[in-house]
Amino acid sequence: MLENDVSGTRFRLFPQAPEVDEDGEPETVYVSSPAGSLGPGPQDERMYAVNTIGKPRHYGMHKNGMGDPYLFLPPWNGEIHQPPEPGPGGHFDHLEPGTPEFDAAHLFGATRFTLDVWERYFGRPIKWHFRDDFDRLELSIMPDVDNAFMGWGFLETGGMHVDGAYRPFWLNFDVIAHEVGHGIIYSEVGMPADDIDNAEYYGFHESAADLSALIASMHFDSVINGLLDNTSGNLYTFNRLNRFAETSDNKQIRVAANDSRLSDFAAGWDSEHKLSQPLTGAMFDVLIDVFHENLLDAGLIPPEMEDLSDKLEGDPRYLDILQGQFDQYYARDPQGFKDALLLARDYLGTYLADAWRMLDPRTISYRGVGNALIDVDEAITGGRFRRIIKVNFEMRDIDRTRPGPRLKKPDKTSHLFSDRTVTPQNLHKRVHA
Ligand SMILES: [Zn+2]
Repeated sequence: MLENDVSGTRFRLFPQAPEVDEDGEPETVYVSSPAGSLGPGPQDERMYAVNTIGKPRHYGMHKNGMGDPYLFLPPWNGEIHQPPEPGPGGHFDHLEPGTPEFDAAHLFGATRFTLDVWERYFGRPIKWHFRDDFDRLELSIMPDVDNAFMGWGFLETGGMHVDGAYRPFWLNFDVIAHEVGHGIIYSEVGMPADDIDNAEYYGFHESAADLSALIASMHFDSVINGLLDNTSGNLYTFNRLNRFAETSDNKQIRVAANDSRLSDFAAGWDSEHKLSQPLTGAMFDVLIDVFHENLLDAGLIPPEMEDLSDKLEGDPRYLDILQGQFDQYYARDPQGFKDALLLARDYLGTYLADAWRMLDPRTISYRGVGNALIDVDEAITGGRFRRIIKVNFEMRDIDRTRPGPRLKKPDKTSHLFSDRTVTPQNLHKRVHA
């Protein structure tokens, strides 16, 4: 249903960040842009990449010599590296990693790929949240900035030094897809209200950005195959029963498989990243439970395996016995397991897109997100996954807790302040907030 459209344009993308997969090869994918429709850059009517040279400051809010705030926004009209030209047939998969041309194409391709995934779930194009001021998104490469952020008319990517090696964010699919996720939420749910400090809006935003990246990364064949081959489909390895996520080589799974509860923040919170974890964790557990439900329905695992899993909880032999069973059944039909996982992925993607549309940024709550998912499930399946959603939200105390007050002012690590959400319209308010 949601596979690559071969009438599109080919790109080569790194599915995993280079620090995770040092020798990783880029995977060839198709994005939805019709072959031949993309110009040099790459560019089309929605976005364009610029690999900047000598850009003096990142986009967003700055102060001039007099200390007065101003907004620095696209377009970049200064010097740039030679933009990549399309190759034979209009594709961009002829470029060599390690060249400025590949870098620009990777940033464009990863952005378009993520947007494609979510536009399919939404069933229509997703408009830019900054459309009143800009027609197109500028995808900017600026190596000197140690950040990556989606803002008013731009997605700017720099990089950082990790263990002495420079790690560019424009080659990091997770980072790009996370930022595109923020853009989708700004557009589909709305920008933060200036007069309301709603903690759950910020936590929800980070969670949605992480889920946007997780689901987009699950569209790479190598990610899905790796996940199944490493676990034989025993994704319980990652969920609430056994927190082995740190053994995963997929960053999005390490983030999503957590055991954080909303009650952990009842006394207050200081980072929207941490605050987002109970919601992301609940969603990830829903994904795993739906996957196992699909396996059962397709007769790929016997019902006794579910009972066994319940019976052995807390038993030291549990992991070995359950894993042995998964190894046995996965070997019989790996393709069946893959189909069941892709189906679970598409359920979650569709449910999220439908649920997000029902939310209001001023009143958003985690509990409200859970209720929206239950309503979506009722409309799509007549309530088939109602219990799964309910139980997993309850496990995170989402049904009975709200976060306490913000304990410190947002700083540079905050994804939702200043450079991301400042606009020509709210600059004055933000500065004097
Ligand atoms: Zn973020």
